[in-house]
Amino acid sequence: MSASLSETGSRLSIRMPFDMHHHVRGGETLKIVGEMLAQRFAGAIIMPNTQPPITTAAMVEAYRAEVIAATGPSFQPLMTLYLTDTLDPAQVRLARTHHGLAGIKYYPRGLTTNSDSGVANPASLWTAGSTPFEVLRTLADLDAVLLLHAADGFAADGSELDPYDQETHFVRETLPRIVEAHPALKISVEHLSTKEGAAFMSANQSAHLGCSLTAQHLLLDRRDVHRGGFRPHMSWWPIIQREEDKLALRDLAASGSPFVWLGSDSAPHPIGKKETDCCAGGVMMVHAGIELYAEAFDLMGALDRFEAFAALNGPRFYGVAPSDRTIDLVREDWVVRQTFHITSDEPRMDEIRPFRLGEKVAWKLAA
Ligand SMILES: [Zn+2]
Repeated sequence: MSASLSETGSRLSIRMPFDMHHHVRGGETLKIVGEMLAQRFAGAIIMPNTQPPITTAAMVEAYRAEVIAATGPSFQPLMTLYLTDTLDPAQVRLARTHHGLAGIKYYPRGLTTNSDSGVANPASLWTAGSTPFEVLRTLADLDAVLLLHAADGFAADGSELDPYDQETHFVRETLPRIVEAHPALKISVEHLSTKEGAAFMSANQSAHLGCSLTAQHLLLDRRDVHRGGFRPHMSWWPIIQREEDKLALRDLAASGSPFVWLGSDSAPHPIGKKETDCCAGGVMMVHAGIELYAEAFDLMGALDRFEAFAALNGPRFYGVAPSDRTIDLVREDWVVRQTFHITSDEPRMDEIRPFRLGEKVAWKLAA
């Protein structure tokens, strides 16, 4: 079985994709997300920045059960632990051996949603003897993946970095040190957003280093985010960058490299957390979680490379078998009409607004 594109290029059949970066949240939000996720994806990397974060094997197991209850049993949740300064290597071993742990997520403290428990000092990742260093040694030993939120908050002299420079700084100063200190460790750079990041990946890709790309970073640049005024429903971490960054990411996605894959970073927030004086980063993407990527690959003229990007490369890196199911997509406009409701007593905390509300998406799941 392999991908097929109809003669007119308006219908596409691919193996069921995997989303290698997804925030399913919990409770009612998880129920809403789970159904849409399982419709489109055979499995997903489940992010651990819940409240509280997932830091023990028992929490991994409990969250996994919650995800399966929301998605149904044919969906494959690939679980992660949250790297803190005190994460216990014994818990990593236990979670990997018995509870389907796929990897560990690194969050620089304070730089994204629920990152207060993240690693305080990135240098601990490459400094022998620190707890995070020992965790990464264990992870390499277990052939599991380190997922990096590739951002630094501060320069070496302690000065605060411009948010548009956080990833570039990480790629230049932090990532090479992690790679060098842990040569046997598989590393995935998450939601790559800059041309410097794309250049690093092209120059250094290997069986031990890859990256995920979001649809929003392939489709948008900062002109879209600021057109007519700042748009909170286009606010993400990492931040949407310049057109030249978007074009570099498109080139990387269209390159056909086996070390580049789909990771939507779908991250629902209630409207009250978006339209407020301190807007949360992240937007629900799962309602069009594969359709938006088909739109981007169509724009790039790269639909023949879409199946590998969406359904094969990520699972291969993580040592997971690709799906033997397929999904069909058609090139057909539809408008995102629906917001999603959850129970809350607080004003505006009971509704989630999806990406492109009231606007068109150019590809659609076939009925
Ligand atoms: Zn994320």
